[in-house]
Formats: sequence, structure tokens, C-alpha cells
Amino acid sequence: MYSKMRIYPFIEDFCHKAIVKESYESRLLRLRNALDRADYVVIGAGAGLSAAAGITYSGKRFTDNFTDFIAKYGLTDMYFSAFYPFKTEEERWTYWARHILMNRYNMLATDLYRLLLNAVKGKDYFVITTNVDGQFEKSGFDKERIFAVQGDYAYLQCADGCHEKLYYNENLVRKMVRQTTDCRIPSGLVPHCPVCGGKMDVHVRKDRYFVQDNQWYASYERYQDYMEKVCDGNVLLLELGVGYNTPTIIRFPFERLAAQRKNITLVRINKDYPDAQNRMTNWVSFDENIGSILSDIGT
Ligand SMILES: [Zn+2]
Repeated sequence: MYSKMRIYPFIEDFCHKAIVKESYESRLLRLRNALDRADYVVIGAGAGLSAAAGITYSGKRFTDNFTDFIAKYGLTDMYFSAFYPFKTEEERWTYWARHILMNRYNMLATDLYRLLLNAVKGKDYFVITTNVDGQFEKSGFDKERIFAVQGDYAYLQCADGCHEKLYYNENLVRKMVRQTTDCRIPSGLVPHCPVCGGKMDVHVRKDRYFVQDNQWYASYERYQDYMEKVCDGNVLLLELGVGYNTPTIIRFPFERLAAQRKNITLVRINKDYPDAQNRMTNWVSFDENIGSILSDIGT
């Protein structure tokens, strides 16, 4: 008898083979048809989409911009650096200010996100994303149709979540970067919670203290209402770069929906994990480049 650990790779292998068997052209045609037919498009986006857009957290983009931090702390990339145990708040905020400036404020709308917007032009769409870089809004997606579940680099919150308010951080971040010397900002720039006087954090979900303010709940409700409204129509679930970091937010619910309803088509674009846990007929999977696929459906 198979244990769970043994069954899972088997399913993954099976599904991956199924993808390899069907030609790219055939899958592209199915994606095109699903998009044409769709009354509603729900875009589910994860880290793989922003990485494909060029917002990479490792390699040259990291080493070119964090030379001093690499020399001083041995940092290896922007994923792990976010969890580095800096000894002082001055050092922690110096790191974060540069991280936020690079990935949020200095990163303009990327071509890939614009291409995505173009692909759903004229469609009734909604976006659910775990990305915190603000790319959807920057690229022209309607902010009333975006649910950024995991937060936004552009805001600070109380590290203990003592009150449910967020603080826009652009001016502070720019000031911190300008005043950085030897991987350190002046102590006067370290933010403190205006309510409890404790530490502040970037508004990115990492623990139970993540703040969900009124705006967060409002977009959550809009997403829930949207999903209830659309479930009887023809729906395309367009899942882009969603891996296994937090699969319970987008990946698993999308699969469950597609497995339950024939009027819902799941299109998964994921270079590392194009598989599915359930066997479904109404899904199309790609491990090819997201940008090439989006370009190809427009031609
Ligand atoms: Zn507080």
C-alpha cells in the first residue's frame, strides 16, 4: 500500500506526462477558447508571475544592489534576507528600506503585467494575488478588482498588530535609503508604533500579527461576492506562478472549484509545478514561459 508520501509523486509524474503528451499548440488553442468563452476571468497570481516579470530576488539583481550587505552579513538573496536576524532595528530597517525601494517604488509597471491586462481586456475579471509588490495596480488593473491577500510593501504596521491601521511608507523608505551609511540608518528614522510604542513591521504576512484593516476586509468581501456571483457562468481560472508556499490561498481552492464544476476551466501556468492533485478534464497546464504564452494567445 502506498503511503501519502509515495502517492503524491506518482500523481505528479502522471500529470506531468499528460502535459508533455499534449502539444503546446493544442494547449494554447484550449486556453484561447477558454478565454473567448469566459464570461468571467479570475486571475490567481503568485511569486512566479513577478519573477517572470523580472522582479527576481536572487542572482545579479540581488548581488548588484546588496554588495555591502552581502559583504557584511553574508546575505544570499532577498527571500532569506527578509528573515535575517539583524541585531539592531537600525540595520533591519536599512535592509528593508532598500528591499522595498527596489521592489515597490523603483519598479515601475512591468511589460508582463501589462500583457496580462491586455489579455483580459474587455473581460469581467478579478485578481487574487499573494504578491506584495503592487504590480497589478501599477499596470492598470482596477484596484477594486484586486485582492492582495498577503499585504503590500508600501505599508507599515505595528509588529504586534496592536491596532488595525496601516501606514504608507514611501517618504520614510526614501529617506532611509538616502541616509544609509555602512548598512545603517540614523536611529531617529527607526519607526515605532504610534499606539503601543513597540516595533513596526512591513505589511507582509509572516505571522499571526499580520494586520487586516478595513480595506483588506473590503477587498476580501469583494472577492467572495465575485466568486459567488460567477460560479454559474463560464469561468476561466487563470493561475499564474502559484507554487507550494501558500497553496491554500489560490492553488488548492482553484483546483477544487475546477474539479467540482464543468463550467469552470482552470489554466495553470507554472514552470516548476504544472501538475494537479486531482484528475480533471477541464484544465490546461503549461510549464512554458508566461510571457511567451500571453504573447501567443494575442497572435
Ligand atoms: Zn502597536
